[in-house]
Amino acid sequence: MRLPSDGDHTGRTLGDEEIALLAQVIRSGTLNSTRGTFVTRFEKEFAAWLGSKHAFACASGTAAMHCCIAALGLRPGDEVITTPITDMGALTPILYEGAVPVFADVDPRTLNVTADTIRAQCTQRTRAIVATHLFGLPCDLDGILALAADRGLPVIEDSAQAFGATWRGRKAGSLGALGAFSLQQGKHITSGEGGIVATDDDALARKVFLCVNKAWGYGDPKPDHYFPALNYRLTELQGAVAVAQLPKLDHVVARRREVAAALREALASVPGLELPHDPQHGTHSYWKFAFTVDPLVIDGGGLALGKRMQADGVACAPRYIQKPSFECELFRDWTKSPVTLLPLQHNPRGAGPQPPFSRAGYPGAVQALERVIVLPINERYEPQHVAHVAAVIRNAARGLARG
Ligand SMILES: *Cc1c(COP(=O)(O)O)cnc(C)c1O
Repeated sequence: MRLPSDGDHTGRTLGDEEIALLAQVIRSGTLNSTRGTFVTRFEKEFAAWLGSKHAFACASGTAAMHCCIAALGLRPGDEVITTPITDMGALTPILYEGAVPVFADVDPRTLNVTADTIRAQCTQRTRAIVATHLFGLPCDLDGILALAADRGLPVIEDSAQAFGATWRGRKAGSLGALGAFSLQQGKHITSGEGGIVATDDDALARKVFLCVNKAWGYGDPKPDHYFPALNYRLTELQGAVAVAQLPKLDHVVARRREVAAALREALASVPGLELPHDPQHGTHSYWKFAFTVDPLVIDGGGLALGKRMQADGVACAPRYIQKPSFECELFRDWTKSPVTLLPLQHNPRGAGPQPPFSRAGYPGAVQALERVIVLPINERYEPQHVAHVAAVIRNAARGLARG
């Protein structure tokens, strides 16, 4: 069975609405956002949807994270606490701003960082916390926001995977000092590439705006380039698509929640699987249906089960990103690039054992990656797709069951 894929029209909600607005942009002849209207309209409508005061669109989720980090005005060697299970686009911006990404372990059941794992990594140099709502499951924000408030640290919610997830009734990305989202092809809504940053803080908003715009003070009495920043603007073409996508987002999230509920029901009786669900105080928005596999019950664990699913035509990603982020080539030798070298030259970790992070310190992340299977789902899944996927998983699990 061919399953709807978010890589093309079968698993996306793109249609006549996007085409109509794109045509307007082309006919207008204005393709850039400094003169056009669609990007600013998307920013206004997204802020209203999220419940935040400001929102600024930009070129990617990576750019969104970069603008968040840059808006904090860090010094060389400052530390930003983040997660070892994330997209690299959430990590490199920390280095580009001269700071050291410090990794907090994850809870192997949720794959998210927690207040406890973050606290364990706090030092005198900690300047910010990134809370990544992985796969659409909100982090336990009560503890994280309390810890951050206690230490006077801003929280950046990396909500690239968590459009429409909620915590105590508020949308993910609107609870921390800053929220970052991605509009890349595979996210809940898309303009091909793109991103957006949200904040309620006027001063941070001003900085984010400048970070998107080469730090040029548009509209100021005597504008100048105030600090080093890149051109991270979204085009009007992308803005038009994003404007058309936004009204569909609530439906996308609701449909994904339905699909996830159906999958959970169909898999409930399979021994050895830990299935994703809403946290106690929030709601999951199911960017993916990520579940973990107990290797004591299912022989070979997540890797073996995932391989069988793939062999039976169900695309999935056992181990997600394969290894903790700090084991990627760029972190192995921090002296190779000025981007990695500078932060460490200004941080005591530079004088310690190299590389500064290793898997011995991350039992939660190691176990999580060993056990997780990331199953793609999307809003176009119908009951027959769910039934097929569930049957393949049940079969594969039965074939590998121990005892
Ligand atoms: C996708 C993603 C990003 C980066 O977004 P891009 O648009 O691909 O640059 C950052 N963080 C997380 C958690 C993501 O899933």
